[in-house]
Amino acid sequence: MKEIILAKYGEIALKGLNKNTFENLLIKNMRRRLAPLGSFSFDRQQSTIYVESEDENTDYDAVLEKLKTVFGIAVLCRAAVFEKEFEKICEGTYEYLADTLEYARTFKVEAKRADKRFPMKSPEICCELGGRILEKFPHLKVDVKNPEVTVTVEIRDTNAYVHAVKIHGAGGLPVGSSGKAMLLVSGGIDSPVAGYMMAKRGVHISAVHFVSPPYTSERARIKVEQLCEKLTSYCGNISFFCVPFTEIQEAIKDNCPEEYFTVIMRRLMMEIAQRLSEKDECLALITGESVGQVASQTLKAIACTDAVCRMPVFRPLIGMDKTEIIEISRKIDTFDISIQPYEDCCTVFTPKHPKTKPTIEEIENAQNSFDFSKMVEKAVEETEIKVIKF
Ligand code: ATP
Ligand code: MG
Repeated sequence: MKEIILAKYGEIALKGLNKNTFENLLIKNMRRRLAPLGSFSFDRQQSTIYVESEDENTDYDAVLEKLKTVFGIAVLCRAAVFEKEFEKICEGTYEYLADTLEYARTFKVEAKRADKRFPMKSPEICCELGGRILEKFPHLKVDVKNPEVTVTVEIRDTNAYVHAVKIHGAGGLPVGSSGKAMLLVSGGIDSPVAGYMMAKRGVHISAVHFVSPPYTSERARIKVEQLCEKLTSYCGNISFFCVPFTEIQEAIKDNCPEEYFTVIMRRLMMEIAQRLSEKDECLALITGESVGQVASQTLKAIACTDAVCRMPVFRPLIGMDKTEIIEISRKIDTFDISIQPYEDCCTVFTPKHPKTKPTIEEIENAQNSFDFSKMVEKAVEETEIKVIKF
């Protein structure tokens, strides 16, 4: 039996004049995601994209798995394709949905007749097909309010489609529709989740990671690359910038008061991330911070960090609890990598008693005792760049 996947979009349907651009980008992203599984045709009609394989033996479960990670799709259904003849639709439905109907207790039929030339109207299709299903599966009862199974019949221009199982898509907007931003990614739980959340809003992601060998190991960097690799299944290829940060951290340790170490370090990270963003055409920074999580994430500390920022800084986790963040990290499969115990440069030279409520003036005075500009320049120049591929 021939099958097809229907991908229904959510928010894109509300777009006005530029809806076409969003649709084209969504199809481009879907095509890329499915490329390893063969070639597919994409046909769009009424807020739905019809995905059809050009190869008979396609594994549609695998196709669904891939499409579940494409932002911009609200609902996915696997559907059977029939000729537009009522008898054929009925026979096909019994066969296609046999397992589902066998194990259900209640059902209803919904019909959508987009092709008005089809001789039966929607209510008639529902009534007639519903009656026939009851004859075939006498244990079933009709429940129009709260059915276990909704059998949907769509009569479109070329074919009729029947489906019963709706799967949640990833939601959001197609990646690339909202420009590009630079994710400050560490090996922790939070920052990959922050990247995922911005990608969901259509933002294309680049990533910057700071390393401090020999205080941080090669293995720690590999862990971060693995996290980014996980993110690529949602946001496509990621340009990955790895910044040598040892010299700067040692200079902070040798020249600045200990209680301000972390905030000064974060200001220098932001400065370097901005320089790289300018080169990489990123329009904003993204971090995994959440209010009050650690000393450098109090409102005052965040204000000190933001004081050096010339571009918007997005912190999508800002109001979330750790348990909520962990839930998402499990869903996107980054959690198990994140909890591997490797060091991060943020945990090198951490002060015993960090100042939780620094003022911008205090921090500037503490930082100005040393001229970091040459070191910042050098770190930018010596940054290694690679593309982490989907
Ligand atoms: P995460 O769980 O994201 O690793 P964290 O809980 O360890 O973060 P901090 O160490 O305070 O929190 O870091 C706050 C944010 O700073 C991170 O979410 C991340 O965006 C950024 N960050 C921390 N360390 C690095 C690093 N080595 N390279 C790049 N960005 C970093
Ligand atoms: Mg954190």
